[in-house]
Amino acid sequence: MAVLLLVAVVGLLIITIRYHKIFSETNKAVEHTILVLDEDRHALSSLGALENSDADTAQLLQHILRLQQLTIDNPSQQARLDTLRQAASAPGRSRVDNIRALLLRVQAEEGRLLDILEAANGKSRDLLKNAIVTLLALALALLVASGFIIPYNLDRRKRAEKGLQESRDFAGLLVSNVKEYAICMIDPDGIVLTWNQGAEQINGYTREEIIGKPISVFYTNEQNARGEPVYNLGKAGVEGRYECIGLRKRKDGSEFYADVVLTAIRNEDGKLTGFMKITKDISAQIKVREDLNRALVRERELNEMKSRFVTMASHEFKTPLSVILSSTNLIERYNGPEMADNRLRHIHRIKSNLNNLKQLLNDFLSVEKLEEGIVRNDPARTDLVKMAEETIQDMEEACMDGQRIELEVRGEAQDVLMDQHLLRNILNNLLSNAIKYSPASSLIRFRVEFTYDWVRFSVADQGIGIPEKDQPHLFERFFRASNTGGVPGTGLGLSIVMRYLDLMGGTISVESQPATGSTFTITLPAV
Ligand code: ADP
Repeated sequence: MAVLLLVAVVGLLIITIRYHKIFSETNKAVEHTILVLDEDRHALSSLGALENSDADTAQLLQHILRLQQLTIDNPSQQARLDTLRQAASAPGRSRVDNIRALLLRVQAEEGRLLDILEAANGKSRDLLKNAIVTLLALALALLVASGFIIPYNLDRRKRAEKGLQESRDFAGLLVSNVKEYAICMIDPDGIVLTWNQGAEQINGYTREEIIGKPISVFYTNEQNARGEPVYNLGKAGVEGRYECIGLRKRKDGSEFYADVVLTAIRNEDGKLTGFMKITKDISAQIKVREDLNRALVRERELNEMKSRFVTMASHEFKTPLSVILSSTNLIERYNGPEMADNRLRHIHRIKSNLNNLKQLLNDFLSVEKLEEGIVRNDPARTDLVKMAEETIQDMEEACMDGQRIELEVRGEAQDVLMDQHLLRNILNNLLSNAIKYSPASSLIRFRVEFTYDWVRFSVADQGIGIPEKDQPHLFERFFRASNTGGVPGTGLGLSIVMRYLDLMGGTISVESQPATGSTFTITLPAV
C-alpha cells in the first residue's frame, strides 16, 4: 500500500511539474501581450502631439519599432506595423488618422490575444492548483500510512531478527555442546572457521589453536601427499554432500578412524560460501568389526582344520592300526618258546605304532586347545635333567631297532621355573621326529645345556635331513618336507612347538643337511 501511494505521489509530482511549466508559459505570454498593449497605448498617446503640430515623429517611430520587436513571432502584426512605420514616416498631419486606425487594429488584435491567453492561463492555473492539492493530499496520506506501516514493518523485522538470532544462538549452543561429533565450518579454501566441544575432544585442538588453520592438519602425511583434503572438498562442492570413511590425525599425531560428512553451503545466488564438516570417531566400531571379522576368519580356519583333521585322522590311523592288528595276529601264532624273539619284535612294533597314534592324537588335541585359546603357560620349579631322562624313557619304546638316545648335560644343572606340560610336549615332538626320520641303529643326541640366564635343549639325529628349500616352512601348520616319503605324519608337530615356545618366551632353530641329519635347538629363559 505504501508503495502504491509512493508511486501515485511520484506520478502526480511529475504532472504537477508539467502543469507548472504550462502555467508559467501562459503567464509569460499574458505579461508579454500586456507589454505590447502598453507599448501600443504609449504610441497612441504620442499620436496626440503629432495631431496638433508637425512635431518630430521620432518618438512615434520608436514605439512602432519597439512594437515590432515585441511582436516578432506574429506575422500579421508585423505586416501591420510595417505599414504603420511607412505611414509614420510620411510627411503631413493628414496621416494621423491612418496611423491611429492602424494602432487601434494592433491594439484590438492584442486585446483578443490577451483574452485567449488569460483564459488559457486561468485554466492552467486551475489545473496546477488541483494537482498541488491532490499532491498534498497524497503526500499527507503517504505520511499517515508510513506513520503506521513503517513502525509496523520495523517491529515485524525486529521480531524476525530476534527470532533468527534466538534460533542461531540455540543452534550455536546445541552445536558447541555436542560431544560425540566434531562439527565445524570451513571456508571455501578449507580454512577452519568454527569449532565445537566434540571437535576438541575428537581432534585434540582447542578453539584458539585450530581456527584459521587448514583442514590438511587433520589428514595423515600420505593422505596430504595424495591431495585428499582438496579432493574431498571439491567433491562436496560439486555433489553438495560428500561422505568418506578413513584415517584422520589428532593433534598428538595419533590416528583414528573417522566418518566425515562434508556439506557445501551456498548463498542465495548459488555461490559457494563454505562447508559444514561433521566428523565422528568410529574407531570403536571399526575395531568391533575387525574383531568380528578376525573371529569369523578364525572360525572358518578352525572348521577347515577340523574337517582336515577328520580326513587326515582316517588316513593316518589306518596304517598304524593295520600294523598293530597284523602284529597281534602274528604274536598269536608265535606261541612256541623258540619264537620269543619274533614275539618281542612284534610287541615292539605295536608299541611304536601306538606311540605314533598317541602323538597324532596329542597333536590334534594340542592344536584345538591352542585355537580355543585355553593353553596357558603355567611355570613351576622343575628338575630339567630328571624331566629329560623321563622323556627319553617314554620315547625309547618308539625307537626303531638299534636306535639309541644319548643324553648329555652341560653346564651347572639347576631347577628352573618352567611349564612342565608344555616343555614335555615340545621335547616329545622333537624326539619323536628324530626317531621317525632316522634309520634303525642310528644315534640321537639329546643335549641339555645350562647357563645363568637360559637353558638350551638340542636334539640331533642322523636321519634323512630336510631339503634347504623346505626349511623356512617347517613351522607352518600342515607343512611336510618333500622328502618324508612314507614316514607317517601330519605336519602339525613343529607348528605346535612354535606356538608353545611363543607362550613360554623361547625360540627354536634348525640346522639340517639332507641325508646327513638334523639338529633342532630350543632356547628358554632360565628363571
Ligand atoms: P610331521 O607330523 O610331519 O612330523 P612336524 O610338524 O613334526 O610334522 O614336522 C614337519 C616336517 O618337518 C616333517 O613333515 C618333516 O618333513 C620335517 N622334519 C621334522 N623333524 C625332522 C627331522 N628330525 N628330520 C627330518 N625331517 C624332519
